[in-house]
Amino acid sequence: MTSTSLTGWGRTSFSQARVLQPHHVDEVEQVYRDERFVIARGLGRSYGDAAQLGGGVVLENRGFNYLGPIAADGTVRLGSGVSFDELLAVALPLGWFVPVTPGTRQVTMGGAIGADVHGKNHHVDGSFASHVRSLQIVTPQGTFEASPERDPELFWGTFGAMGLTGFVAELTLALTPVETDQVLVDTDRYDDLAAVMAAMIEGDANYHYSVAWVDCMTRGKHLGRAILTRGEHATRSEVAEATLRAPRSGRLRVPLAPPSGLLNRYSVRAFNELWFRSAPRHEAREPQSIQSFFHPLDGVRDWNLLYGKRGFVQYQFVVPDDGAATIEAVIERLSSAKVASFLAVLKRFGPENRGPLSFPRAGWTLALDLPVGPPALARVLDDLDDLVLDAGGRIYFAKDARLDATKVNAMYPRLGEFRELKERLDPRGQLTSDLARRLHLVGN
Ligand SMILES: Cc1cc2nc3c(=O)[nH]c(=O)nc-3n(C[C@H](O)[C@H](O)[C@H](O)COP(=O)(O)OP(=O)(O)OC[C@H]3O[C@@H](n4cnc5c(N)ncnc54)[C@H](O)[C@@H]3O)c2cc1C
Repeated sequence: MTSTSLTGWGRTSFSQARVLQPHHVDEVEQVYRDERFVIARGLGRSYGDAAQLGGGVVLENRGFNYLGPIAADGTVRLGSGVSFDELLAVALPLGWFVPVTPGTRQVTMGGAIGADVHGKNHHVDGSFASHVRSLQIVTPQGTFEASPERDPELFWGTFGAMGLTGFVAELTLALTPVETDQVLVDTDRYDDLAAVMAAMIEGDANYHYSVAWVDCMTRGKHLGRAILTRGEHATRSEVAEATLRAPRSGRLRVPLAPPSGLLNRYSVRAFNELWFRSAPRHEAREPQSIQSFFHPLDGVRDWNLLYGKRGFVQYQFVVPDDGAATIEAVIERLSSAKVASFLAVLKRFGPENRGPLSFPRAGWTLALDLPVGPPALARVLDDLDDLVLDAGGRIYFAKDARLDATKVNAMYPRLGEFRELKERLDPRGQLTSDLARRLHLVGN
C-alpha cells in the first residue's frame, strides 16, 4: 500500500494516506483488524477534508460496484461505490430516476449516504435517507444490515455522519418512475432577494424541484437579485419527442490549474451580469434535459481547477424559516467585504429526518463558492458562522474546510447521541478523518 496525497473538491487541504480499494466485506473487516485509523472515500466530491485521513488508511468504495436488477416497485440493491452517473446510465432508459440528486452525477452512493445529500426537491421528498430502504454497514464491531425498522439508531445515525459509523458496503434504494428524460422548467427573474424569497414561499409547494441562483455581487436595491428555476419531470404527452436516454458526461476539460485561477472578483461580477441579463424575465414549461437541469457543472470536467492553485471554499448553511433575514445579512456581508462568490444557490428545505448529524432542516439553505485568496475571507466566514448560529442554523460538513470546532456542538445539538452510537460500533475509535479531527467530532 503506497502513500497517496488526497484532497477534497475545493483543493484547500491535502494529506497523505495509504489508499486501499476493497471489493468484499471480508477485506474491510480485515482492515479494521490490521489498522489503527480508517475512513471511507467515494469520488472525493466533498469539498473539504471529510474523505481523507492523514497517516491513516482510506478505503475507496469504488470496488463495491455491484448493481442488481431494478424491481417492479423501483427498488434496487447496489454497491456503495456505484455513482449517480453509472446508476442513471442503466436506470433512466428503463424509466427510473434517482429520488434525490446532488448537483453532480460524479458522487457515489456511499458519499450520498455519508453526507445525506439533498437535491432541489428537499421541500417535497426529503434527503437521500428518505429513499434508502436498508443498508449493509461494516463496522469494527461487525457487519450489520440496518433499516428504519431494524437497528434504527445505526440506520439514521449513518446518514450525515461522514463515514464515521463504518463502511457502507451495499444499500437498497427506491427509485422514482419517470416517463421521459426531460424536465419542464419555469424560469423567473427577480430584481432583489426579498422578491425571490417571497416567490419561493408562495410557489415552491407547486413544484417538485426548485432552486434560485443569487447574485452576491450586487448591493443596494438589487441586493440578491436572482433567477428562480422550478420544474417537473415531463410526461410523455407533454413533450414533442418522449426519449429516455442516459445523461451524457461532459467532454470539455480544464487542462491545468491556472496559477492564480480564472475566477476572481472582476470575472465573477462580469459573469453574473451576463448570466442575469441572459435569463428570461419569465419563461414557462421550457423542456430541458436531465443533465442541463440537474447537473450543469458536469459539462466541464475538473472545473474546480478554474479556481487556481489555492483552491476554493464552499460555504453552505441552513437557517430555520424565521431566520430568513440571515440570508440577506450574509449576502450583504460578502458583498460589502468584496468577497466574490461565483455560485450562490438558494433552496428551501422541508422537515429534517431522524439522523443526529443529518444537515438539512426546515428552512432556507444557501451555498456559496468562494475562491481562496482575498485576505478578508477567513474573517468574513467566521462572521457568517456567528450569523448562522444566532439564527439557530448550521453549516454542512460535506462542504466544510475551515469551521471552528467550538461552534459544532451548538450547530449539531444531537452530537452526543451520535457519539454514543459511535462508542457502540467503534470502541477503539478507529473510524476518523481529517474533518472529524479538525472539528473534534470524535475523540481520535
Ligand atoms: C459540483 C458539486 C455539486 C454538489 N451538489 C450537491 C447538492 O446539490 N447537494 C448535496 O447534498 N451535496 C452536493 N455536493 C456534495 C456531494 O454530494 C457530497 O460531498 C458527497 O458526499 C460526495 O460524494 P463522494 O462519492 O464524492 O464521496 P466523498 O466526497 O469521497 O466522501 C464523502 C463522505 O462520505 C463518506 N463515505 C464515502 N463512501 C462511504 C461508504 N462506502 N461508507 C461510509 N461512508 C462513506 C466519506 O467518508 C466522506 O465522509 C456537491 C458536490 C459537487 C462537487
